[in-house]
Amino acid sequence: MTSATLTIDLRALVRNWRALDALSTGETGAVVKANGYGLGADVVGRALAKVGVRRFFVATALEGTALRDTLGAGPDIFVFSGHMHGDTDAIRAGILTPMLNSVDQMLRHVEALPGHPFGIQLDTGMNRLGMEPSEWFAVRDIAIAQGPALIVSHLACADDADHPMNAHQLETFQAMTDGLDIPRSLAATGGTLLGQAYHFDMTRPGVGLYGGMPFAKALPVVSLDLPIIQVRDVVPGETVGYGNSWVAERDSRIATVSGGYADGLIRAMGANATLYAEDTPCPVVGRVSMDLITADITDLGEVPDSLQLLGKHQTVETVATAAGTIGYEILTSLGHRYHRSIIE
Ligand SMILES: *Cc1c(COP(=O)(O)O)cnc(C)c1O
Repeated sequence: MTSATLTIDLRALVRNWRALDALSTGETGAVVKANGYGLGADVVGRALAKVGVRRFFVATALEGTALRDTLGAGPDIFVFSGHMHGDTDAIRAGILTPMLNSVDQMLRHVEALPGHPFGIQLDTGMNRLGMEPSEWFAVRDIAIAQGPALIVSHLACADDADHPMNAHQLETFQAMTDGLDIPRSLAATGGTLLGQAYHFDMTRPGVGLYGGMPFAKALPVVSLDLPIIQVRDVVPGETVGYGNSWVAERDSRIATVSGGYADGLIRAMGANATLYAEDTPCPVVGRVSMDLITADITDLGEVPDSLQLLGKHQTVETVATAAGTIGYEILTSLGHRYHRSIIE
């Protein structure tokens, strides 16, 4: 096997969903946008539907159509980008529920698909998507008369429990929606962990399901093993990789593994990253190439078949920190060349 193996543990995914569900006062949905945070919206969606998830969230109508093909009729599929120009056929055919973000989207929706379900997304301060308070209060009565399936807003700082923005957004959301007889949702993973005041009728975690922060108790869902293609010995003074950035200081054994920045193993993790041979750390040396990474295996007794980047010794979060980014980006960058092995 010359390609790397990405192992996706669906049992861990389901346990993460159950753990977040146990914290939630209301229903717990699942966000599977960006192809299930890089793990495959089809496998992830099927596994979660099997354990009872009835409401899924995606970013675009096209993602929604693909998910509908996977899940069949039954579960609700909400689209965060709402009803955009050109989305009507996909929304109708996929029985998707667009989260309308503006009066323009609302007009488009009721004109193109009268009677078709929709939700409303409100902006409570993040200034990214959703109707602002003034816009909302202008159309609220008309919108409510149409019977939206769900009203959501999104927290900007929920990964920081002490941030005053959380309470501010909560208050704004309440002011915009209190007294309406429509299901409400404010919390993603971070908001779920902030406590019950943030839960309303439904939580909608994404990254926590996949083993990412801020859900510190999440079980790791992915592991990544990179096969060793070649091994060589170098003497002090010899260099490894592009730009001669690593110079051997001792007699060293270097393994070249399959996997590089074209597989989402971003260059920036470079010298801060470590590969593992079982329990033994093998530092990455030299630059990450497009398809290859070199690691120092001098201290290993035997040359293994592969080295592990993600797994029990190193989480998505550790690798993200080494690369100066966040777990979300490591997950959604995971490449297409991996052999994918699913644990059910
Ligand atoms: C991505 C997203 C989520 C899920 O967020 P996580 O931090 O991954 O749990 C929920 N709601 C909205 C509107 C989103 O864009």
